[in-house]
Amino acid sequence: MAGPKKNDPKKPDPKKTVALQDQEPDVEQVLFQGPLFDRECNLKANAKLVQIALVPVKQMISDALARRAHTILLEPREGRVAIRFVIDGVPYPAAAIPGQKGSAMVQMIKLLSGLDVNERRTAQSGGMKTEYEKIPYHLIVESTPLGGTAEKIRIKVDNRKVVRQKPREIGFPDHLKARIRHYTAERSGVILVCGPPDTGVTTLATIVLHCIDPYLYSVYNLADLNVRELINVADFTPEPGHDLEISFDRIIRREADVLYMNPLKSPHDTQTIFQYANRLSYVAEIPANNPAEAIRKLIEWVGVDEVIKNLRCILTQKLIRKLCDDCKQAFRPNPKLLKQLGLPPETSVLYRAPLPPPPDDPKAQTIEELCADCDGVPYYGRVAAFEMFEMTDTMKEVIAHGASPEAIRRQMIADGQTTLQKDAIRLVAEGKTSLEEIQRTFNPGGPKKKPAQARPTPPAK
Ligand SMILES: [Zn+2]
Repeated sequence: MAGPKKNDPKKPDPKKTVALQDQEPDVEQVLFQGPLFDRECNLKANAKLVQIALVPVKQMISDALARRAHTILLEPREGRVAIRFVIDGVPYPAAAIPGQKGSAMVQMIKLLSGLDVNERRTAQSGGMKTEYEKIPYHLIVESTPLGGTAEKIRIKVDNRKVVRQKPREIGFPDHLKARIRHYTAERSGVILVCGPPDTGVTTLATIVLHCIDPYLYSVYNLADLNVRELINVADFTPEPGHDLEISFDRIIRREADVLYMNPLKSPHDTQTIFQYANRLSYVAEIPANNPAEAIRKLIEWVGVDEVIKNLRCILTQKLIRKLCDDCKQAFRPNPKLLKQLGLPPETSVLYRAPLPPPPDDPKAQTIEELCADCDGVPYYGRVAAFEMFEMTDTMKEVIAHGASPEAIRRQMIADGQTTLQKDAIRLVAEGKTSLEEIQRTFNPGGPKKKPAQARPTPPAK
């Protein structure tokens, strides 16, 4: 995720939280290229709105993209519209736009995304195509009514150029890749990927497909890729009128080994997949926050026996902020800490965020002054920790006896399976993140260090 950072003249001043207000733009401007999903937007019919709000919306989105925001939030708050940029999973206040101008910006975003600006009492979703610094972005926009004419807006930023498909591109560990290859080589069974919304579940499913050796196995796709492209995966288009069973039979006749499916959402389709799972290996997403939740859903849909017989593994990931390479500090961990973390005793160095200057020395440099790269955040970009639930013989017993989340977790640890916590410690051992960051990620309700306003804003890319 590194980019040109040092002395970037286009880098917005992180202290300038009012950068969006009526100033000459100091960053390159985003280009709007029309709504997504075949919608239209009529700028002429909304000339007044365009006059008030087009430039501020342009500046706001340019600023967000320059700062690597992956989500933009606009919410009414105390007579203003509060704008926040979510960067590396952490929301930062970006601006508070007074009343009328703020609501005009909300409506302008709806207009550009092909939503109905006269409708403020129903949730709507759409999106727009944009380009910023020669990189194409899709902005997926959701409006949510809050009563009266108030609405909030959530914009999800999808960088169309950064397509991560290969296991090594997301740091997918070799031992997990080997497990995927082991399971798909059987030409049977179901492999699932799950996680909370916006945690890269689809990217992880794509990675699973690309763990498979394309020279030994043939992988087919039956999912709606939505302008995504898969490498070494053959598209299969069902004939009109053919149901899943007929399509599966046809795919099996083509000697397919692995089939990639749309996310499992209905009991009926899931049952069909499990019925065919003795002749074909399946990869799909399932909407669930974690493997235990996915298993509960599957038991409800196909019954516990089918789950035990045909489910092979469930993968999930958690994105964790990466320490800034330029200012992270090495330290020698004591043996007690290493033992606590389960790291080998010969581990000689771990990394942490730089310590803040002593408060009694007014001349000491702040972290922000020390590191131009991260502006003292001191994190930049994110890395993933992975988890893989595996249906071992011992796990089958646990599933047959009620499949409680606690029992599943205990058995995963007893089997030595990769859990999010264990894999996060790997990231600490590799010097990619800090123990403090792991603590923050896994205990979001835990002790808060600083209020959001006091945090430095991450820099531009
Ligand atoms: Zn730094």
